Amino acid sequence: MDLSYSDDQQAFREDVRAFLSENLPKRLSDKVASGKRLTKQDHEEWHAILNARGWLGVNWPVDQGGTGWDAVQRHIFEEETTAAHAPRIVPFGLAMLGPVLMAFGNDAQKAHYLPRILNGDDWWCQGYSEPGAGSDLANVQTTAVRDGDHYIVNGQKTWTTLGQHANMIFCLVRTSKEGKRQEGISFLLVDMDSPGVEVRPIVLIDGEPEVNEVWFKDVRVPAENLVGEENKGWTYAKYLLTHERTNIAGVGFARAGLASLKRIAGEQKQDGKPLIQNPFFAAKMAQVEIDLMAMATTNLRTIAAAAAGQAPGAESSMLKVKGTVIRQEINALTKQAVGPYAAPFVSESLDEGSNVEPVGPSYAMPATQAYFNNRKLSIYGGSNEVQRAIISKAILEL
Ligand SMILES: Cc1cc2nc3c(=O)[nH]c(=O)nc-3n(C[C@H](O)[C@H](O)[C@H](O)COP(=O)(O)OP(=O)(O)OC[C@H]3O[C@@H](n4cnc5c(N)ncnc54)[C@H](O)[C@@H]3O)c2cc1C
Repeated sequence: MDLSYSDDQQAFREDVRAFLSENLPKRLSDKVASGKRLTKQDHEEWHAILNARGWLGVNWPVDQGGTGWDAVQRHIFEEETTAAHAPRIVPFGLAMLGPVLMAFGNDAQKAHYLPRILNGDDWWCQGYSEPGAGSDLANVQTTAVRDGDHYIVNGQKTWTTLGQHANMIFCLVRTSKEGKRQEGISFLLVDMDSPGVEVRPIVLIDGEPEVNEVWFKDVRVPAENLVGEENKGWTYAKYLLTHERTNIAGVGFARAGLASLKRIAGEQKQDGKPLIQNPFFAAKMAQVEIDLMAMATTNLRTIAAAAAGQAPGAESSMLKVKGTVIRQEINALTKQAVGPYAAPFVSESLDEGSNVEPVGPSYAMPATQAYFNNRKLSIYGGSNEVQRAIISKAILEL
C-alpha cells in the first residue's frame, strides 16, 4: 500500500493552498482560530465562496455540480482547510442528504433540492434521534400517517444540530408498526415552516444552544416529500450514516488543536518556566502526539484502500474512537495548560459582538469552551461504546 502523495496530488494540495490564501476571508479564519462562535451568515458566506469555485459538493459527482474528487483529494482538502482555520462545511445537506437523494430520490426531488443545497437556498438539519431512539435508532416513534396526498406527522426529534437555522429537516418516521422495527421506517423531507413544527433549543454545557428538540403536532407533509419507498427508510438511513462517518478521524482538527496546545504550553509559565519545559506535561503532550501520528497513518491506510475501490468497513469505528479520544485528550491538556483561567468561563465572550471581557489570556476561554463542547465527540455519530462493540465483533471476532 502506497502512503506517499503523487506529483498530481501534491499539485492539487498547492491549488487548495493558493485558493485558501486568496479566498478565505481573514475575518472568518480569525474567528475559527480564536474559537469564536460562527453565525449562520458566516457559514453561508464560506459555503458561497466554495460553491463559486465548484468546491462545495466535495463528495458529489461532477454531473451534480460536485467536485468528483477521490478519497485522497478530499483528505488533502480537509487537511488544508482545517490548517488554514476555514469554517467546516456544514454537513447536513451536503454530506448527508445530498448523497441519499442522488441514490434514492426521484428525478423531481433531485432537480429541486440538489441545486438548492449547493446554492444555500435551504439549510437542512437531521431528524434521526429521539429521546428513546439514539444508539437504538430503529426504535423511532415519530409517526407519519398517510391521509390522501399528505402524511400527518406527530412526535419529537432531539439533539437536532443547528436546527434553529434550518428551514428543512430530513426525518426518520414510523409508517408501519408491522413486522421488524426496521421495516416500518420511512425517510421524509419536512418543511420546518409547516404549521405544527416547533423548535426548542437545548443549551449545551458550554452555554451554546447548538442542538434542539423538534416537535411535530399534526404536521401535514406532502406525500411527494417521501424519499424512495415507504417503509424502506432504514436502508436510506444507513446509507446516509456511511457518508456521515467520512472524515470521522478528524486528523486536521486534532493537528490544529495540538498546534494550539503547544503554543499555549510555550506561553503559560509554571515556576517561572514555560509549561512545555515541565517534563511531566511534555511527556503527556508527546504521548498524544505519538497517538495522533499513529492514527493519521491508519487514516491514510483507510484512504488509500478507499482510493483503490475498497469500501470502508469497521475501520471507521476504530478511527471514530481513536480520533475522538485523541481530540478530547488534547482539549483536556489545553484546559490544564491554561490552569486557573479555565475556571471563570464566560460563554457570552465567544459570541460575535460581545463586549464581555475574557478573564486571563485570550486563549483561555476558547480552551475551556472546546473542552466542554467536545464532550459530544464520543457521543454523536455513533457513541464510542457502540463503536467498541462493533470493533470487538467485526475486527476482533469476539
Ligand atoms: C452534540 C450532539 C449533536 C447531535 N446532533 C444530532 C443531529 O443533528 N441529529 C440527530 O438525529 N441526532 C443527533 N445527535 C444524537 C446522537 O446521534 C445520539 O446522542 C447518539 O446516537 C447516542 O444516543 P442517545 O443520546 O440516545 O444515547 P443512548 O443511546 O441512550 O446511550 C446512552 C449511553 O449508553 C451507551 N449505550 C447505548 N447502547 C449501547 C450498547 N448497545 N452497548 C454499549 N453501550 C451502549 C451509549 O454509549 C451511551 O453512553 C447529536 C448528539 C449530540 C450529543
